[in-house]
Amino acid sequence: MNTPTHYVYGLNAAILLANNIPIDIMVSFDSILFAGFSALIPDIDHPGSTVSKLVTPISKIFNWVEAKTMPSNMKHRGFTHTLILPSICVAAYYITKSPSFLYMGVGIMSHIVLDMLTVAGVPIFYPFTTKRFRFANIRTGKGAEKIVYYIGWTILGMLLIRY
Ligand SMILES: [Zn+2]
Repeated sequence: MNTPTHYVYGLNAAILLANNIPIDIMVSFDSILFAGFSALIPDIDHPGSTVSKLVTPISKIFNWVEAKTMPSNMKHRGFTHTLILPSICVAAYYITKSPSFLYMGVGIMSHIVLDMLTVAGVPIFYPFTTKRFRFANIRTGKGAEKIVYYIGWTILGMLLIRY
């Protein structure tokens, strides 16, 4: 999926998190926007992505490390598209009690779930398996993604009216 689609679903995921999690976390406009930005983080392993262009040196180091360490089918949508980063975020939340880590984790998780709608799928259970999982066949940037994108804005509108 492309950046705008990931961003809107990151916002949706943060609002859903803030309103449904059984623990008391701080909710703010900033934290919702932060989750939207966090939803872009997994594509740091894709040189053409928005987040890679924002932090080019970090992205280049990341790509180099991934190329040296990951199996051949894990170059893009590799390590950053697994449960590893969301798990680290949850652990960091329990250690620091900073809700920012929960918002980051839910933003990243929304990205992974959204990419599971695409033909390429994601190796979500790496390092247990490099098999890619998906539950739809949407092609990134094509008509079906546009429908998913507009559904995302519709959900956001409904969430904002409700809360
Ligand atoms: Zn991705």
